[in-house]
Amino acid sequence: MNGKQIFNSIHNIKIIISNHKEEIEKLDQEIGDGDHIFNILRGLDEILNLKNELLDKPVDHIFKNLGLKIMTTVGGSSGALFATLLIGMSKKYNSEFSDLNNLSEMFFEGVQSMKKRGKSDLGEKTMLDVLIPVSNSLIEFKNETNLEKVANNINDVAKNGMLSTKDIIATKGRASFLGERALGHIDPGARSSQLAIEAICNQFINK
Ligand code: ADP
Ligand code: MG
Repeated sequence: MNGKQIFNSIHNIKIIISNHKEEIEKLDQEIGDGDHIFNILRGLDEILNLKNELLDKPVDHIFKNLGLKIMTTVGGSSGALFATLLIGMSKKYNSEFSDLNNLSEMFFEGVQSMKKRGKSDLGEKTMLDVLIPVSNSLIEFKNETNLEKVANNINDVAKNGMLSTKDIIATKGRASFLGERALGHIDPGARSSQLAIEAICNQFINK
């Protein structure tokens, strides 16, 4: 893992999220306040601006600084939560591990930090309904050598998690104010997280 790969992934995430801008905006208009897509795009632009400064730095330094940048520039629950994810991830990098092993351990730590920060867990109609199952699958696969197989599996797990939010009543975030009226709507944070994961998985899938 290195700066070039990390920034390449962020670039790919920006493309896929931009291509679904209207859809994500609509999801947050339905069960939130409509700003989710702008928070996400703002965060992606802010961290892409750090490319020249961070490209050659150690992986843990990069993740920490991406998180700090999001923390100080992006509003909304998702700003604080994604910042926490990245800073958490920075704490577990070990240059002696394989990329997949690192990613599994780093992502697990990041998601744990996010759960604490948001006082939330699986089944509350948030992005954690995507991130927790993905994190669990990554741990299961951490020594797998067929990366395309891992990517295909993670892609499916993320999609199922995203779709599962449709049938859940929210107990965290703005959607929780709607009670049963939020049923039938996919959570915007779950959709943007799933798309980001899809962008990264696609880098490993021969299409
Ligand atoms: P805000 O809700 O403050 O307007 P955003 O619109 O940027 O922030 O993000 C909304 C998303 O944040 C939701 O769709 C949900 O996935 C996620 N979210 C909100 N609160 C929590 C929480 N406590 N834990 C995890 N995710 C949360
Ligand atoms: Mg919002």
